[in-house]
Amino acid sequence: MTQQQEAPTKTVRLPRALTVRELAEALNLTVIDIIKEVMKRGVMASINQSLDYEVAAAAAESLGFAVESEEDTAAPEAEVAVVEGEVEPDEDPALLQTRPPVVVVMGHVDHGKTSLLDAIRETKVAAGEFGAITQHIGAYQVEVKGHKITFIDTPGHEAFTQLRARGASVTDIAVLVVAADDGVMPQTLEAIDHAKAAGVPIIVAINKTDLPAANPEKVKQDLTQHNIVIEEYGGDVIAVPVSAKTREGLDNLLEQILLVAEVTVDPKANPNRPAEGVIIESEMAANRGPMATLIVQKGTLRVGDIITAGPAWGKVKAMFDDRGKKVTEALPSMPVEVMGLTTVPRAGDVFTTVADEKEGREAAEEREREVTDSTRAVTLEAISGDIAAGRISDLNIIIKGDTHGSVEAIRQSLERQGAVDVRVNIIHSAAGNVSESDVMLAAASRAIVIAFNVKIDIGARRVAETERVDIRTYQIIYELIEDVEKAVKGLMAPVFAEIIDGHAEVRAVFRVRGGRIAGCMVSDGFVRRNSLARVMRGGEMIHESRVSSLRRFKEDVREVTNGLECGIGVEKFETFAEGDIIEAFHTEQRG
Ligand code: GDP
Repeated sequence: MTQQQEAPTKTVRLPRALTVRELAEALNLTVIDIIKEVMKRGVMASINQSLDYEVAAAAAESLGFAVESEEDTAAPEAEVAVVEGEVEPDEDPALLQTRPPVVVVMGHVDHGKTSLLDAIRETKVAAGEFGAITQHIGAYQVEVKGHKITFIDTPGHEAFTQLRARGASVTDIAVLVVAADDGVMPQTLEAIDHAKAAGVPIIVAINKTDLPAANPEKVKQDLTQHNIVIEEYGGDVIAVPVSAKTREGLDNLLEQILLVAEVTVDPKANPNRPAEGVIIESEMAANRGPMATLIVQKGTLRVGDIITAGPAWGKVKAMFDDRGKKVTEALPSMPVEVMGLTTVPRAGDVFTTVADEKEGREAAEEREREVTDSTRAVTLEAISGDIAAGRISDLNIIIKGDTHGSVEAIRQSLERQGAVDVRVNIIHSAAGNVSESDVMLAAASRAIVIAFNVKIDIGARRVAETERVDIRTYQIIYELIEDVEKAVKGLMAPVFAEIIDGHAEVRAVFRVRGGRIAGCMVSDGFVRRNSLARVMRGGEMIHESRVSSLRRFKEDVREVTNGLECGIGVEKFETFAEGDIIEAFHTEQRG
């Protein structure tokens, strides 16, 4: 992988500081290459760590690059953005502390994912606490040499990608289970693509090594052919032989997980802030009401905190850990089962802590509205429009075709379609029908699905409808390529239709703190908070923006319908006059 022996051929321009990941991207090398290189200079850096120009430049030079400084030309804003990397503005790096990695187990059916999760839990959990009843709450934590690891207990890339499709990125590392007697199978490849699309590093667990037919070397070779290059073959992916049955190799696997966590992921969070995280499982329990298992991603969750998660909210009445034990607080990466929510949230819903019950209720209502109103369909037309407007520079595609040959032919033709500033990424391609997991992957990665001479599974069609994923079916390769070509050039702009929701007549104008609002009567349809709106006077439009506030009897409301009085505030507009008409509308994408 390294280019040490080559003469400097490429010149890179580096900013005053950049992270290991950014340097790897700039040089088109792996993160491991960079970490090894800077380590030689005595710098122990992790993936998101910022490197000084001197260190980055020296590493790049010894990797065969000629380096120039961006210092003189770069705009100050750009430098700040680079230095901060992935850190959110509210997270001062000084406040971050290492948290346990969150691990998901994936692989082909029957290769031993469940057995492996059970074996790890039994050896590490039960041994430590004699007599403890092990609960299945959807995730568990084990401790290895004083370090914790969180495992998500639902194996498989489908569940993993479903969480991602709802916007949650909870997983740090994927363990890819491959049975040593069976080798790389279709779902192994699917799992690889799902992990790659999420940017999650993979560790391979070569399972069932106790069987006489086990051939771990063949597994490694097959994986290499699919771009998972194991360390011994010069790559950077660790493979660990294990047996879920005899428990051989489990300790080694856990240690390798810790190593990858430390070296490439470096998971961190600030525990001293209100908690945020992800719901990973939920149910309506007969005698306890809505129960939700969540993983805290940042902050600390405490009994008594008020949280909102998707359409649910509530005060945390009690919390239970993975052993069913009552706990009063949950730190980053810790899974807990929470009692006290008003309704059952969905797996993948993000939770946040709010100040009081009023805010909790409102946030839940708001989210529900967002879910129903603003889930944008990912269609080839919409993506094309985004490309034309310069909003995105990637076109993500999943290809399913009738034969391996046709899939490869399509893949190669489409990859050539990339323009100077638009990349065509084939995030997954395989022979076979379009499955539910394909559609989930598309939803999670804002990708479109191309189906060439294959059927769409019933489940896939259903998910495509709810997640609004574009599945395009073709029988002629030429037509398919032409469509993608148009999309890449931004020539397939979407068509938006405007739909009028209702009208409100201005009866009086009130001065309030921060501006003026119109006292109105809704004369037809309805008006919603945040809706698009225009102010009409004498039949002419005098302003167009949004409904910024909507009140009835001093209470904020989400919607006011025909025949009711209300107060309406309009964004960036104050000069209301009696008799003005406020027209509320929304747009819908057509085609
Ligand atoms: P999953 O579908 O990937 O979750 O696979 P399971 O964990 O259900 O395992 C499938 C089958 O393989 C079961 O019959 C397990 O008992 C068996 N199995 C799992 N791990 C091992 C192993 O390490 N050695 C052997 N011999 N059998 C295993």
